[in-house]
Formats: sequence, C-alpha cells, structure tokens
Amino acid sequence: MTDATSPISTAKAPAGWLGRLEGSWSWIALGLVGLLLPLLDDSYFGVIAQRAYIYWILSAGLNLVVGYAGQIAIGWVAMLTLGAYTTAALAAGRVGGVEWHPYLALIAGGAMGAVFGVIVGLPALRLRTFYFAMTTLGFATIVTQVALAWKDVTGGGVGTPGPVFLWPFEPGWGFYYFCFLLAALATWITANIGSSRYGRALVAIRDAEVAAEASGIAKPKLLILVFLLAGGLGGIAGGLFSSLQSYITPDAFTFEMSVLFFIGILIGGRGSILGPALGTIILTVLPEFAAPLVQWSTFLYAALLLVIVLVIPGGIADLLDYKNRRPLEQHREIVPRPELLSRVLGAKGEPSAIRLANIALHFGGVRAIDGLDLEIRSGEVHGLIGPNGSGKTTTLNVISGYYRPKTGSLKLDGADLPFDKPHARAGYRIARTFQTPRLVGAASVLANVMIGGTVRGDGTFVESMLSLPRHHNDEKQLKVAALKALATVGLESLADVRADRLQHSELRFMEIARALMLRPAFMLLDEPAAGLSAEEIRRLGALIKAISREGTGVLLVEHHADLIFDICDRVTVLNLGKTLAAGTPAEIRSHREVVSAYLGA
Ligand code: ADP
Ligand code: MG
Repeated sequence: MTDATSPISTAKAPAGWLGRLEGSWSWIALGLVGLLLPLLDDSYFGVIAQRAYIYWILSAGLNLVVGYAGQIAIGWVAMLTLGAYTTAALAAGRVGGVEWHPYLALIAGGAMGAVFGVIVGLPALRLRTFYFAMTTLGFATIVTQVALAWKDVTGGGVGTPGPVFLWPFEPGWGFYYFCFLLAALATWITANIGSSRYGRALVAIRDAEVAAEASGIAKPKLLILVFLLAGGLGGIAGGLFSSLQSYITPDAFTFEMSVLFFIGILIGGRGSILGPALGTIILTVLPEFAAPLVQWSTFLYAALLLVIVLVIPGGIADLLDYKNRRPLEQHREIVPRPELLSRVLGAKGEPSAIRLANIALHFGGVRAIDGLDLEIRSGEVHGLIGPNGSGKTTTLNVISGYYRPKTGSLKLDGADLPFDKPHARAGYRIARTFQTPRLVGAASVLANVMIGGTVRGDGTFVESMLSLPRHHNDEKQLKVAALKALATVGLESLADVRADRLQHSELRFMEIARALMLRPAFMLLDEPAAGLSAEEIRRLGALIKAISREGTGVLLVEHHADLIFDICDRVTVLNLGKTLAAGTPAEIRSHREVVSAYLGA
C-alpha cells in the first residue's frame, strides 16, 4: 500500500526547510534593522533600542525558564539588579578600593547573576509553581532592600554611577553595537538550546513531566543548568543597564520591569524564541511612543496579557506559525509497519526478566496492590487484566519507579531496581506509555517522539548551546531514529504536525513511537487500545507482537479481552490488588472465576 508513504513527500518538504526559512527571515529582518539603525543617527531611537536589547538579553535566558520549562519566575528583575550593582560597584572601585576594568566588572556581574540564578532557582525543584513564583518575588524585594541598606557598596538611596565602557564599545553607537551583539549572542545560544534535546526536555518537563521522567530526563540537573544560564544573562543585562542608565539607584529596578520581562515572554508564546523577542521589543518600545500612557503601563501590560490569553493563547509565535494552519487530511488511517522494527530496536539483547515478588502498596486505607507476583520476560507479551481500580496502573507505576512499594521486591535479572528516581528507569531501558497520553501539545509529533530518545545523545549542554559538532550529530541521529519510529507505528506523514492536532488513537501510537526511542528491553503499555477502532486494535496487536518478537518484554494492561488472548504469551488477572489467576491465555479462558467475573460465560 502507498497510503503510508505517499503523504510523506507532500507534507514534509515544504514544512521542513520553508518552515525554517520563515523563521529565519524574521531574524534577518530584525538583525538588519538593528545593524542599520545607527544610520538614522538619532540617539533617542538608539537609547530605546539599547534598552530593548538589554531587556531581551535578560528575557532570552528567562524565556528558557518561563517559556520552555514553565517555571513561574516573576521576580527575575533581581538578576538585573544584582548584575547592575556588581558591575557598577566593581568598576567604580567601591569594593576593596580597586577600580575594575569595566569589561571585567561586567563579567563579574554575569557571574553574580549566574550564582544567584541557581540559588533562586533551587526552590523550583521542590515547590509547586505558585510558591516558586512567590519566592522569586520575595528575593527581588530582598535584593532591592539590600541595595538600599548597603551604602558603602551601592551608594544606598543616592546611588552609584554606572561603568563607562571603553573602545571599541564606548558610549554612543559603540555601546549600541555592544548591546546589539550581546543580544544577538543571547538569541543564538538560547535558540540553540531551544532546538536541542535539552530544549525539548524542558518543554517536556513543562507539559508532560511524568513522560519526561519516563524518558530519562533528570529535571533537577537540567533546571539548574538553565537557571545558571538565565541568571548569567540577567546579570550581564544588569551590567549593561547600569552603563546605559549612567547612574543607578534602587528605584530603577521596579516590579513593573519584572512584569514586563514576564509578560513579554507570555505574549510572545511559550516555547518560542522569536515570539518572546518580539514581545519584549514591543513592550519596551510601545510606552516610548505613547508617552502619556506610561503611567498606565502596568494596566496596559495586564490588558494586553488578557487579550493575548483570550484571543491567541499561543501568543505571537502562534500567529507566525503558518504551517500548522493547513488543514489535515480528514480520514487518516494509521498503518503501522512492524517490519521496520528491527531497524528501530537494534540488535536483540541477552534474555532478561523483571520480577515482582509479593509487592504490596497502600494508599491510605486503599490496598491498591496486595501481594502481587509477576514476571515479565524478554520476547514475551504479558497481559495484565482486571476490573477498574484493581491496581493495574499502580503496578506499572511501581515498575517504572514512581511508587515505592510497602513490601516485596522488584528485580531486574536478580538485581534490585531502585525507587524514587523514575528518570533512572530509562537507563535500564524500561519504557512505558500512559493510560491518558502524555504529550507536548504545542510541539510537533516528531519533537514529541524525539523526547523519548533524550538520553541517547552525547553532546553536553554547553556543546548544544554553542552548536558544536556533537550537538549536530545528536540531532541528526535523533531525528533519523524518530522518523523511523514514526514510520514503524504508521504516523510518518504527521511528523511535522502539532501533536495537539492529532486524534486520540494517533496519540496512542505516538506514545508507542516515543517509547521505542529508548530501544527498550521492556515496554509497559497502559491500555494502548482504549479508544481505538476494531481495525486499529488489530494492527496495534500485530505491532505489539512484533515488538516482543524483536526481544523486548512487553507488559500489556488492557480491557479488550480479544487483544489479550490473541497476542499474550501469559496473562495475570488482578482483582482488588490480588492475583485472581495467572497462566497462559488458554488457562485463563477456562478459569472458572475469571470467566464468570469478567469474560461472561
Ligand atoms: P486500574 O489501573 O487497575 O484501573 P489503579 O492502579 O489506577 O487501577 O488503582 C488501584 C486503586 O488504587 C484504586 O482504588 C485507586 O483509586 C487507588 N489509587 C491509585 N492511585 C492512587 C493515588 N495516587 N492515591 C490514592 N489512591 C490511588
Ligand atoms: Mg489504570
């Protein structure tokens, strides 16, 4: 059949390179305006533009925190304040009596921002969003108060002069180009991160945290790197800001500024670089051309945010996203190609097994699992059935490390599997899907599947940031692998489509493709056939069977008895967290209690 292959060429070629070009045209236009602005020789415009660049340097980093990772850091102005005072105080010789070279002082400002970026960011690893937002705000207040009180260094309420940068970035157009260059650099490195496996991992943490963990993404480590970068950029922005202001006092760093940074990103669109850059520029420039409105700026920001949230929830980035406005084909068929599996999964490993022995887990008074024995062997499909609430999903959650059982043991080839670190399961090549598909709706299907292979890359965060060869290598290989996985499950033609435009049944197959990216030794599937048509269930069954034939051990939680009996090598029937029956499909079929309870005589 050509169904599965023919739409690939039509859907992909234009969206691929044209999509990229659409994005870069906007950047080229912005860059040209920035480069040529000095030709106007209007210092008023120059100062506005410099302010926009400086704000964007901070916002570019904050964008990774807020727009990508979804962490509500509303007090990021604190990094601007810290960077500004560090740079200004060092350059003015207010610390230790030595006047630092302004460029060195600027680097120190960036370092200060980086350190405090991590310190302020740490609570995000534990606190829920709202509380984290409050801690960042509290920190911003503390920084301002310290600036007021620590008169020796900051000049207190009187303030302190900002540094004057020397040739080639001396005040005037020299300094203008300095800000422009650093803004371009901030854009480049954050865009590199954004389009790398780290950027996709951040977005996965934001929109599908459990799926991110199941894919092996370690949230704490990644967030700390991002806070470090965002803090550093904020500190550099602060150093530049102190020079632009030529004199800084604590009241130069207002809460409104923090709101501007935050809202600039939101109206730009989460998970985009171009959108927030435009958002920040608009919010910086707008009040200048509407001088009488300045007093209303907070009100206007709030109104603008409301309008954006209500009218274009995806922000400016959504308006610029042409390719996802093309209608999708109405009657789409999912035609998996299990014959491609060997290329996706690689060579067969040694036979191995996951064993659960006497596992028990209670939620308060509810005995979700109550003494369960189970063995998943490579090369076999093990069915897990039982009525709603019998503990099937909980069993999966124990195996994938989300819950620590009260008693019992969980072993992989005789060695204990650790708990409390669900992201470590990817290292054992244990993959899973979810009863309710977990996805990043705003990302493409391809990107969603690539998230599943995050741990397969070699390049470090810094290598991605600087777009070094290993980063390119990772991206190329991940993309090839993801396209293969998508072709295997029959979704290749939808690779460039936003995931939230897919039908429910397609999402189930997309999750399988994402799980395949781990080259799993074991695969845990939680009701993958729910919501599928009879024909789709049949194809799904063939795909799952083929996965097990490649050597992967599959645990299949399902309600569809036909599917279970068709493809399982072994079946365990759960009831109230206990094993009601276990054996081959034929044995289960003839088990009296099971038949009377579930299968209907
Ligand atoms: P199944 O997947 O077989 O439908 P689950 O494993 O989801 O069942 O749930 C088993 C039992 O444990 C149910 O009674 C459910 O209400 C309870 N349960 C599951 N998860 C939690 C939780 N996080 N907190 C409290 N109770 C839970
Ligand atoms: Mg369930």
